[in-house]
This record gives sequence, C-alpha cells and structure tokens, in this order.
Amino acid sequence: MRRRAPVKTFATRPRPEPRASRPCPLCGRIGPVPLWDCGGFSFASCRGCGLVQQDPQPDPAAVASRYDGEYLAYEEANQLAYRDLELLALADLGLPEPGSPLFAERRPAGSRPRALDVGCATGALLDALRDRGWDAAGVELCAPAAAYGRARFGLPIHAGDLASARFPDASFDLVHASHLIEHLSDPASFLDEVGRVMAPGAILVLATPNADGFQARLLGSRWRSAIYDHLYLFSLRTLRAMLESRGFRVEREVTWGGWAAGLKPAFLKAPLDAWAKRSGRGDVMAVLARKAR
Ligand SMILES: [Zn+2]
Repeated sequence: MRRRAPVKTFATRPRPEPRASRPCPLCGRIGPVPLWDCGGFSFASCRGCGLVQQDPQPDPAAVASRYDGEYLAYEEANQLAYRDLELLALADLGLPEPGSPLFAERRPAGSRPRALDVGCATGALLDALRDRGWDAAGVELCAPAAAYGRARFGLPIHAGDLASARFPDASFDLVHASHLIEHLSDPASFLDEVGRVMAPGAILVLATPNADGFQARLLGSRWRSAIYDHLYLFSLRTLRAMLESRGFRVEREVTWGGWAAGLKPAFLKAPLDAWAKRSGRGDVMAVLARKAR
C-alpha cells in the first residue's frame, strides 16, 4: 500500500455504503466514461463537461457520518501548516485587507467585515483572520473539531453543514472553503447556499485539488487526491463553469505544487513547482470569485 500510494492525503477506507450513479452536477449528463479504478471505488469523467466524479457516488448520509474524532487528530496535527498554506493562497489571490474601502462602504462605521470559513476544521485560519481585523465565524461538520476550535480559539463555530447553520441572507463579506467542495455530494446546492449568505459583491475563495494538474495526469488512480472522500475533482475549467452557473464571477485563479514532497526524484521538485505555477498545472488550485450583483 505504501509503495503504491506514497503521498495520498487523509482518507476514509472504502466501506460497504449504499452507492448509486447520479447525473453530473454540472451539466446533468448520466453515464460518465470510466477514468481511474482505485481499488474499491472508481472515478469517471463526464461525457458532457469533463467533470471528474466518483462513480457510483456513495450515499450522502453515509458521507456525512465519516468525519469523526480520527479526522480531528489529523487536523490538529496539521493545523498550523494548513493555516500557513491557506494564508499564502489568500495572498496569492490578492484578497483585500479587511480595512479596504471595498468592505467599508457597505458596513456600519466601526464594524469589521465578516469572514466565514466553511469546513474550518480546528479554526486555525479563522484565528489568524481575526487577528488581521476580520470578524470570524466557522462551520465544521466534524463536531469534535468544531468543539476544539470553540475551546482553543474562542471562535463561534457551528457544528454541522452550512445549510444547518441558518445564517441570515447577505451575512458575510468573505466566504472561504478550502478542500471542502470536492467532499460534497451536492456541490451546486452548496454554492447556492454560499451565494445566499454572501453580501452583494462579497468574495468567495475556494481551494480544491486540480484534476487537470501535472500530478493528476501523471499518477492517475495513484494521485494523492484520488481518494474515497473526494466525490468530485474539478479542473480550473469545470470549477469556473460551475461557479458561473451558480451566479458567481471568477476574478482570479492560482495553482501550485508540481511535485509532491516525498516523490522521487526529489531534484525535480523546485523546477516542476515553478513550472506548475506558471502553467496552471499545479496540484492544488484556488479561485477568487465574486457574487454577481
Ligand atoms: Zn457534466
């Protein structure tokens, strides 16, 4: 197992859960073309739009029950490294500072712009955003992680999915979701709910694996993001198409990571990382989108 998949990310093992083929959430086509056999689960590519999707898809209720204490242990061990990567991505995307006139013109004098992190894990990123002047709130499906973030950072973190938090319309100036959308059974409905809680002109930042990246193409079923927990794997093109179809306008895109740490030969890492970033073939991508007014 270790030789076959040296760099896969945290993953649930395939379980005997109900699974069914579903219409593509981007274009509605059924019957995608088989792409990768990962041993116990498979990915396929949509004939209509090219969106990479697990096929068949595991039952949504079963998916929601996977994120437990084991996930918290993984997140707690990695929270500062992930926070720093997320802050770098936000800087790369040119996220405006909370004091920007962009936010000030819409908020009561003296109030802070509001940031929501969906899938906030331990809340480490929100803690950093709050230090920078944001009013921070989180949503986290893994209840032990949400409890950890409330206790350690004193952050308001709702345990559950975004819809169950029942935020009022137009609550947030920034919504951030890193490595979340690829886990969702219904990414289109998620984006609709995100759009509902965003103020007009607010910013959405999404980060997710890049199915059109160099590593995905090279490694196929052995790619670290070809895991059972990832239900949809986007490219820049399919992510942009889905965002536009739900009323967002993509303004900036970045990809990064050409060669995973631990992959041999190691001397390829620096030049491939630089090339991937220039070419859009990086392993992970982030986009900054705005809600159309
Ligand atoms: Zn499709």
